Amino acid sequence: MANIAFIGLGNMGSPMAANLLQAGHAVKAFDLVPEALKQLAEKGADAAATAVDAVQQAEFVITMLPAGKHVAELFLGEQGILPHISDRALIIDCSTIDTATVQRVATAATERGLAILDAPVSGGVAAATAGTLTFMCGGKADAFERANTVLQDMGKNTFLAGDHGAGQVAKMCNNMLLAVQMIGTAEALQLGANNGLDPKVLSEIMLQSSGRNWSLEVYNPYPGVMENAPASNDFKPGFMVNLMIKDLGLAMENSVATQSATPMGALARSLYASHGAQGNGQLDFSSILNLLRS
Ligand code: NAD
Repeated sequence: MANIAFIGLGNMGSPMAANLLQAGHAVKAFDLVPEALKQLAEKGADAAATAVDAVQQAEFVITMLPAGKHVAELFLGEQGILPHISDRALIIDCSTIDTATVQRVATAATERGLAILDAPVSGGVAAATAGTLTFMCGGKADAFERANTVLQDMGKNTFLAGDHGAGQVAKMCNNMLLAVQMIGTAEALQLGANNGLDPKVLSEIMLQSSGRNWSLEVYNPYPGVMENAPASNDFKPGFMVNLMIKDLGLAMENSVATQSATPMGALARSLYASHGAQGNGQLDFSSILNLLRS
């Protein structure tokens, strides 16, 4: 059992922290939204008054925040937690953020003598709830080994991709591929439907054919094909369009910096940006089907 500080109890952080409690860890939690904190306290967490209060005695400091600016502010801002984290603690940031922020926070933490990992996740809310997330880590091997003792209570697969920032690069590549794959799946299903095919039957055919992919298999974007998919629940997230736009933006910034050719990623970003601009930012990312339908 470990003493864990958990900061950021949103769609992902809440079920992740609940799984740590379930595994018998002592969790001291904090979120800016009091209701989120209250709900986790009802499951056995200790509700901290501030982020600084949450981290002072912790052996592990886990953060799950929206974007790089939130992570930078939490660790390095005027009221930042970095000076207050105990010397023996390991920081695990599970947020999906830009690699520049990872490097800034990692450098500051290392200067303070603290170990830190970037550890973004794949799997979405369902996997966060089921404790089957994939963690893609960046940092030192000994920190990764230590982190594994708690990551395994929230996930099924953990990988060390390389040094600081490498976890975010792996996540960026994965989500760019996911966006391309989701758009392609929606496009193919809509083309079939426009020709009078039943999307359920077409999905079954493609699942046994070379078009098979994750979106088709577990996250079908066509309403009614898969009972538990967001598409069959008015596209309630799931994984919001706005977060996919953020992730594709990170990939595009990086592709410019590294002079990489990412034409499909660029098109995917553009399509998701149009879809978001039409008022769909809060919907699940599989709702891209509606853009192709119209
Ligand atoms: P969310 O917006 O639901 O949750 C973020 C939480 O952080 C909110 O509760 C917010 O109040 C809290 N917060 C922000 N700043 C804070 C601060 N300074 N102190 C304390 N709390 C603070 O987002 P989410 O869907 O849980 O996603 C979190 C991260 O995980 C994002 O980087 C996202 O890209 C990534 N991610 C999300 C999914 C998904 O399916 N939702 C999947 C994989 C990765």
